[in-house]
Amino acid sequence: MSAVMFEKVALIGIGLIGSSIARDIRALGLAGDIVISTRSPQTLQRAEELQLGDRYTVSAAEAADGADLVIVSVPVGASESVAQQIAPHLKPGAIITDVGSTKASVIAQMAPHMPEHVHFIPGHPLAGTEKSGPDAGFKGLFKGRWCIFTPLEGTDPQAISRLKSFWEALGSRVDEMDPQHHDKVLAIVSHLPHIIAYNIVGTADDLEAVTESEVIKYSASGFRDFTRLAASDPTMWRDVCLHNKDAILEMLARFSEDLAYLQRAIRWGEGDKLFELFSRTRTVRRSIVDAGQDVDAPDFGRHALDDKPNT
Ligand code: NAP
Repeated sequence: MSAVMFEKVALIGIGLIGSSIARDIRALGLAGDIVISTRSPQTLQRAEELQLGDRYTVSAAEAADGADLVIVSVPVGASESVAQQIAPHLKPGAIITDVGSTKASVIAQMAPHMPEHVHFIPGHPLAGTEKSGPDAGFKGLFKGRWCIFTPLEGTDPQAISRLKSFWEALGSRVDEMDPQHHDKVLAIVSHLPHIIAYNIVGTADDLEAVTESEVIKYSASGFRDFTRLAASDPTMWRDVCLHNKDAILEMLARFSEDLAYLQRAIRWGEGDKLFELFSRTRTVRRSIVDAGQDVDAPDFGRHALDDKPNT
């Protein structure tokens, strides 16, 4: 068990990410007191049933009052409203951070409300699943995953270092970058793949020449790999698209050009171009496995399915 790092931790938002953080804090003994806040009484009650914290409140202000560390884990579009609610109650010297998937927009929404006497350090753990809500969280979600900080100029290095130690205790590796760069990188590694998945699953769902039952029945040929991403939380992803608009549109333009190149190669029977691209992309997969960001199990380790009867 690790030592207490923060006497009082307030978790605002207790879905997949907030509840995973809560489970780790509790398991590792990183806080003296965990206060949980979420806007709906139903989610709050579920958090209490799951015993994710020590105290529970629907008031973000009450939770943040006197906290040494405040972690905001709500959809990025709700960041400003949360910042407004908690700002007057923040204790001098407190560290305020978030986990939002976009960074420039979160900073624009939260920083103007943060009092001078606190340390606001925006963050983004690159870990998650397609599930949401407090039941979806689990211990160890952040182990071996990156957490990116996008600190504002002039932030106290000691506060950054304290927050870094916290994420390292959860098993993460921490990087720092500027928020605009973060938003560009995430647009290609996360936002675009989700948008493509939403699009392809939507297209298949709209097809009239192929029935829905055939799409489901034969999905193991590739389609189902997209359905996992396309099952992600609609609120979260609506907000990501609206709050990282420029970077996403830039990546989508590049993507459309490259798709046109592929389309032309298929149309004109340019097998060498197709072969060259497909060989290059195969090495990308190899690098991801080598970097420890996925396992090399055949079929993404889905052997559990082999035991299921065919439907
Ligand atoms: P989630 O499971 O859907 O939980 C969302 C939490 O935010 C719930 O406590 C919910 O409260 C609260 N909430 C929703 N709308 C709100 C609003 N308008 N105002 C105040 N609170 C609101 O979401 P999550 O997956 O944990 O995502 C939380 C954040 O983490 C997002 O910013 C997301 O971009 C980021 N993130 C997600 C992932 C991922 O894979 N899911 C990975 C990295 C970062 P109620 O249930 O009480 O309504």
